[in-house]
Amino acid sequence: MTVEGRAPGTEADGGALLDVRGLQVEFRTRDGIAHAVNGVSYTVAAGETLAVLGESGSGKSVTAQAVLGILDTPPGHVTGGEILFHGRDLLRMGAEERRRIRGTKLAMIFQDALSALNPVLSVGAQLGEMFEVHRGASRKEARDRAAELMDRVRIPAARSRVGDYPHQFSGGMRQRIMIAMALALEPDLIIADEPTTALDVTVVHDLYRAPAHPYTRGLLDSIPRLDRKGRELYAIKGLPPSLTAIPPGCPFHPRCPKAQDICRTDRPPLYDVAPGRASACHFWEETVGEQGERP
Ligand code: SF4
Repeated sequence: MTVEGRAPGTEADGGALLDVRGLQVEFRTRDGIAHAVNGVSYTVAAGETLAVLGESGSGKSVTAQAVLGILDTPPGHVTGGEILFHGRDLLRMGAEERRRIRGTKLAMIFQDALSALNPVLSVGAQLGEMFEVHRGASRKEARDRAAELMDRVRIPAARSRVGDYPHQFSGGMRQRIMIAMALALEPDLIIADEPTTALDVTVVHDLYRAPAHPYTRGLLDSIPRLDRKGRELYAIKGLPPSLTAIPPGCPFHPRCPKAQDICRTDRPPLYDVAPGRASACHFWEETVGEQGERP
């Protein structure tokens, strides 16, 4: 996974809400061990939004599932690191305590609403169940709260639709119902898998102006531009590596136009680029300095 964003651990001592340290997740498959997450670290403070970007298969969803404790085990296993939530390591908690935290303090908006919702239960029943189970609400109170939540995420005529089933809603409405579910118990942290908004504007601006990783630069170069009509569209060559055979050194080196000898042997650490930005590239300074030289 390529992480260019907030430097890890910057708020760890100030009591970060979530502090992921050196997380490692692997999948034991018949073809070998797939190293899906290799030492990912980041912190999220209360009130803060953190975006993690990366190619399909780079471990974003697996990281989120590990934090939430819903990794399919087997074949997935957390093999290293810590996930501190309110200062306590989730990985060392018992299953029952973790289950209690999930939903009440830590929630997730899944990317596939249709498969995440139960098709044979009305959405009102699924939303209401959370208030019955976690807040001791009566059936009627739970239904009222469900209607309120549906209204809050702008489902038209929410009160008359609490008895409808997931397939009776459009894809966009189902996604909003998933958001309502995540908001229901007012958790301290919501993890949204594949969100499209809420990036921090300052960091995004800097990232566009002066990317600090060849992969980020490649992504920006591959965006079609009207002023380059008729010119071949730039593409990052090759494919992401197999997770069971990750190249030594920098995992991006076989595809990187900037790769040098050290890249083939030494894995780059995360270098601080600026407050709130870091880059896992030995040559991030040169990359930033190449502003304007893109094809
Ligand atoms: Fe490319 Fe080397 Fe930087 Fe990896 S460390 S992104 S191979 S220049």
